[in-house]
Amino acid sequence: MYYGAIEAGGTKFVCAISNDQLEIIERVSIPTTKPEETMEQVFAFFDQYSLHSIGIGSFGPIDVNKNSDTYGYITTTPKSGWKQFDFVGTVKQRYDIPVAWTTDVNAAAYGEYKKGNAQHSNSCIYLTVGTGIGGGAVVDGKIQQGYGHPEMGHLLVRPHPNDDYQGFCPYHQGCLEGLAAGPAIENRYNKKGQELEEVDEVWEMEAFYLAQALVNYTLILRPEKIILGGGVMKQKQLFPLIREEFANQMKQYVETPDLNQYIIDPGLGDNAGITGCLILATEVSES
Ligand code: ADP
Ligand code: ZN
Repeated sequence: MYYGAIEAGGTKFVCAISNDQLEIIERVSIPTTKPEETMEQVFAFFDQYSLHSIGIGSFGPIDVNKNSDTYGYITTTPKSGWKQFDFVGTVKQRYDIPVAWTTDVNAAAYGEYKKGNAQHSNSCIYLTVGTGIGGGAVVDGKIQQGYGHPEMGHLLVRPHPNDDYQGFCPYHQGCLEGLAAGPAIENRYNKKGQELEEVDEVWEMEAFYLAQALVNYTLILRPEKIILGGGVMKQKQLFPLIREEFANQMKQYVETPDLNQYIIDPGLGDNAGITGCLILATEVSES
């Protein structure tokens, strides 16, 4: 039995095939261009296998509400060509098999919960800090969503006293993504984060913003683990800075696990999302 997975990102789609044991048999990376072009390559890959089901974790915003007419669509993305793209419908038209559908970060949270650094916990949040910021949560084995999926990246945060950058989010002035995702660092310093490793103030400011968000997530959900992934988190010096700033801001108002076990990196590394998609594929039954 084969399972398929698509981790659909704004830059690339990662597609994978696994067996029953969730061992990845083959994977490919496909550039995200236009839907017709990208999906043609996705189908060329999956056509080689007879699949039981597919799990998709997609960039968003997406419609995850099963009662909605546009369930399975990517909705208001600014990414050209992908607005109102019927992702699940397009896949189901090609393969008449069950399709699991969630956000990329929900899938990553689920992957970490089942097989990564949250596997002995009952709850976790996964936050990616990359081109954008997004988060997903799992509580008692269930991915958390309501009317729609969470948008943890657009939390409003207090500006850092030394920061006069306004943020790049076209919707909000002063949201976390606008002030702390990779492009914010690049806009503020005219260099990519990768080239700023030695500049302490960059990471102190970054930690100030991320810690605020983590304080808020903690107050709302009280999860057992907060897992931080994405390109910006490759700067490992951020972890102790975030923990320290988190402690400063929380002021021990609520009890948390030891911060070294609480604010942590993904056990599955860059495979958290695709692993979550594969697990979701094994669990989906209805079409
Ligand atoms: P995406 O969010 O597009 O899936 P990434 O998670 O790799 O991809 O995020 C890309 C962003 O992260 C870019 O803004 C990039 O500058 C930043 N980034 C990638 N690697 C690093 C690094 N080692 N240090 C700091 N920033 C990085
Ligand atoms: Zn925003």
